[in-house]
Amino acid sequence: MQFISTRGSSPAVSASEAILNGLAPDGGLYVPEYIPSVDRAFVESLCPLTYAERAAKVLSLYLSDYTHSELLEYAHAAYSRFETPDTAAPTVRLTHNTYVLELYHGPTCAFKDMALTILPHLLTAAMRKNGISDKVMILVATSGDTGKAALAGFADVPGTAITVFYPEDGVSAVQKLQMITQSGENVSVFAVKGNFDDAQNGVKRIFSDRACAERLAARGIRLSSANSINWGRLVPQIVYYISAYCDLLNQNAVAYGDTVDICVPTGNFGNILAAFYAKKMGVPLGRLICASNENNVLTEFLQTGRYDRLRDFRKTSSPSMDILISSNVERLLAELSGHNGSEVAGMMSALVSEGSYTVSEELLRSIRELFAAGNTDDAGTYEAIRATYSAGWLSDTHTAVALKVLENYRARTGEDRITVVASTASPFKFAIDVNAALEGSEVRPDLDGGTEILDTLSAKTGVSIPEPLSGLDSREKRFKVSVEPADMLSAMEGAF
Ligand SMILES: *Cc1c(COP(=O)(O)O)cnc(C)c1O
Repeated sequence: MQFISTRGSSPAVSASEAILNGLAPDGGLYVPEYIPSVDRAFVESLCPLTYAERAAKVLSLYLSDYTHSELLEYAHAAYSRFETPDTAAPTVRLTHNTYVLELYHGPTCAFKDMALTILPHLLTAAMRKNGISDKVMILVATSGDTGKAALAGFADVPGTAITVFYPEDGVSAVQKLQMITQSGENVSVFAVKGNFDDAQNGVKRIFSDRACAERLAARGIRLSSANSINWGRLVPQIVYYISAYCDLLNQNAVAYGDTVDICVPTGNFGNILAAFYAKKMGVPLGRLICASNENNVLTEFLQTGRYDRLRDFRKTSSPSMDILISSNVERLLAELSGHNGSEVAGMMSALVSEGSYTVSEELLRSIRELFAAGNTDDAGTYEAIRATYSAGWLSDTHTAVALKVLENYRARTGEDRITVVASTASPFKFAIDVNAALEGSEVRPDLDGGTEILDTLSAKTGVSIPEPLSGLDSREKRFKVSVEPADMLSAMEGAF
């Protein structure tokens, strides 16, 4: 299987080259040249398997220059780090027609672990396959979740090193502790004196600094990124939607062929796009419901066909979805336009130059056949946390956005199909808001409650704090250096 650029003017490459390159040379994203299909026998053959075994079989369909035994080895290495390795991402029943797909049982308690635990293995294998003997240095600017998941994924993986920059006053106390206590000989973490944009711009400057690239090349180091535009982050996410369908079959919740809807709390559009691929592969999935918070650019886009990033940015209780430019939409446009590279390139350049674009009538029709969309605010999010807790399950804020949007969708359409809601974080990662919601509050607390709030939430609910988040305060704080944005490059070069 080859991979082509969404913008149509780069050469097709193998899977390992797509993972190595991240972005295509024409600025587009890599998509598979065709979507492999699976049949009933294939899906049923996955049902008795462990999560890692399911993953290897699904990944093999896309990553054809990796052997099945390589993929199985990497999947084992990745998912054996989860709370219950055999069922890394369990599908749990909430009500007769609502199930949650728990994607947060990995080493950092957020769904990004599903991809970032296996990506380092895919990437280092891609280096070997393409005859590159350099060490790969991963560079990340983070507003919270991604940095920690990337650190945990790459820590002590041979042939790699990782440097993470986070905004000094832009992450929660728990997120900061998670990062600065990270173990591993090949990891390095810096606070940046500035906001997330300062950190992100600093990382972009390092990537485009040719003199820096030459100095690193002389030391046998090559820079790379672990962000969600890499195909190596998307493809592991397709696995869990197919795995969820197997779980429903195993639980006798559905018979093969029964259609299941999917509802996803969405930011960069990666997670819900993976559901789109699973559906296109032939898994009996129905409507894909895209849930957003007050940053409702995707709701509007999927309903009207107009993508308009020119609007106020809102800080919400679901910060990982506070995004105005959802990069992975570009892949959807490529797939639904029949890989019309010039059409996609036109829309992407309008987004940069004018801040918006509108899809053709035909494209909008395909979007509407596949997707539904909705959004909610913090009050709606808190309401969903309370309602779900009364029903016996403790939700984080991002998942709660999806649960609220699903409730509204059902009320609006009368639909009552079985729906799997992607649950993207442990409630303890966003304990301040979850706790405030349970106390009946309508608005967000002013103060970051530090780590005590985890104990408060645990005592209140009887749910225990997941191991990766417990005792954070007493772990060794290894990284204490703050740098000016202008000094990020020298900090990184001096770290190893
Ligand atoms: C990253 C993230 C999301 C958004 O996922 P996308 O793939 O960017 O749409 C949702 N919830 C949590 C907790 C996240 O960390």
